[in-house]
Amino acid sequence: MTNEYQIRVQPHVAANEQALRSWLANEYGFDVRTLTAVRILRRSIDARQRTIFVNLKVRCYINEQPQQDEYVQTVYPDVSSAPQAIVVGAGPGGLFAALRLIELGIRPIVLERGKDVRERKRDLAQISKTQQVDAESNYCFGEGGAGAYSDGKLYTRSKKRGSIEKILNVFCQHGASTNILADAHPHIGTDKLPRVIEAMRNTILHSGGEVHFQTKVTSLILEGNRVAGCLASDKEFRGPVILATGHSARDVYRYLADAKIEIEAKGIAVGVRLEHPSELIDQIQYHNKQGRGKYLPAAEYSFVTQIDGRGVYSFCMCPGGFVIPAATDKEQIVVNGMSPSNRGGQWSNSGMVVEMRAEDIAGDDPLRVMHFQEQLERDCWQQGNRKQTAPAQRMADFVNNRLSYDLPRSSYAPGLISSPLHFWMPQDISHRLQEGFKQFGRMSHGFLTNEAVMIGVETRTSAPVRIIRDTESLMHIRLQGLFPCGEGAGYAGGIVSAGVDGERCAEALSRYMNGAL
Ligand SMILES: Cc1cc2nc3c(=O)[nH]c(=O)nc-3n(C[C@H](O)[C@H](O)[C@H](O)COP(=O)(O)OP(=O)(O)OC[C@H]3O[C@@H](n4cnc5c(N)ncnc54)[C@H](O)[C@@H]3O)c2cc1C
Repeated sequence: MTNEYQIRVQPHVAANEQALRSWLANEYGFDVRTLTAVRILRRSIDARQRTIFVNLKVRCYINEQPQQDEYVQTVYPDVSSAPQAIVVGAGPGGLFAALRLIELGIRPIVLERGKDVRERKRDLAQISKTQQVDAESNYCFGEGGAGAYSDGKLYTRSKKRGSIEKILNVFCQHGASTNILADAHPHIGTDKLPRVIEAMRNTILHSGGEVHFQTKVTSLILEGNRVAGCLASDKEFRGPVILATGHSARDVYRYLADAKIEIEAKGIAVGVRLEHPSELIDQIQYHNKQGRGKYLPAAEYSFVTQIDGRGVYSFCMCPGGFVIPAATDKEQIVVNGMSPSNRGGQWSNSGMVVEMRAEDIAGDDPLRVMHFQEQLERDCWQQGNRKQTAPAQRMADFVNNRLSYDLPRSSYAPGLISSPLHFWMPQDISHRLQEGFKQFGRMSHGFLTNEAVMIGVETRTSAPVRIIRDTESLMHIRLQGLFPCGEGAGYAGGIVSAGVDGERCAEALSRYMNGAL
């Protein structure tokens, strides 16, 4: 027999299987010896009150063993002699597109400019050691895409529950913990995600697909109004194309603009990474001077407000994580965040950003938001000693227009340099951030503090360009056989939504190949 219960327990009960079994037996009046297994179906933390509770949905197996795997397995057929399609980019958009193509009987040829996920790790370490960024292998480029070395947060505001669950199940099939199916705010962690990505690549290869690293696509093969393939490393790859090149492939945007392929400027959000001691965030969020104790995870926060008609909000929070150098080229500084799976680091960081709309920048150049982004990243590099050393300012100093005479210790490995961010960041951004921080400090006592440091600049929050596609066919508005996909095309924002869009593009491409469009 199985029974499902929605329960609310204290953290020490939720964290210990034995304690949870006893609690359930006691609460629902059955003999604990008959309880053969407990499966957690949903888990969330309720930290609104002084006493913290964990909400659980559990399935109890009484005198019965669980029959199925905890996740749904997808079957990947052999497609080695099937018709082929090209997937440009091995980020979540491209990888999920490739896997879905296999399911649909199409052989994916994946072209990725960067290196495989292991080799890539060495180039990431070099950024802090040498202060140099490899333009083809960095935190945004390489197998796994922008999210490979990240917190691996897997939640999305999208409401397409079925599609999201499919993505999470595919991650589990490739080695992610099944906790991601239960947690309200699932995450994989930067120490675990690369192995999952490797396993996804192996599924593509074992099914007869191809994955080419260090293979940068430089142009599309155009035959009239049809895309017949692409050129990469002087080689032709033929087939319809899913273009999933992410938000940082500026050369791709430039190529599209030069080739008069329809694109448009898109709004982004711009600001800084804000880093607090994780203990302080735990104390604030769990209302306890002792912090999170033994049984609770590093605390998260989320803030949002409106200042002078634009959103100001926290973005991509990494509890117990690191701030990282996420530039993709020389002479730019861009910061982002990542965390290991245990989120056990000394600091907690989050993007703190201000909404910027395309109309906020004058003109009709489709690349104008990208140019603004580039300029800000270059300004930041100049302020930061022309290295990856990032300009930084204590939070309360920033709000009070004061230069910080020293800086707190930080997780940002290339180092920080004190800089008046309030002075050189665009006024529209710094003023709104200052007002936003004041509000967040009022909402959450202790949050606005000089113990926190702001690190400049966070600019790669989403794509500055949209590659215009038809809403039904998901094909480019004019070019047959081209499927703009994922974050870089302007249709996703995050690992899961890029994966969902990858699957949708694969399905659309399959319909196109079958002549249904
Ligand atoms: C440090 C960091 C942390 C993040 N943390 C999270 C998180 O915790 N949770 C979350 O949901 N999101 C996170 N994100 C955002 C998330 O990574 C992206 O939303 C997601 O990866 C977008 O997927 P994508 O496949 O559309 O593009 P990308 O992941 O950007 O992948 C694009 C791929 O295309 C390749 N490429 C580019 N140009 C070419 C070319 N010309 N030829 C061949 N290949 C090319 C790139 O090398 C890259 O591998 C993070 C991003 C960063 C940078």
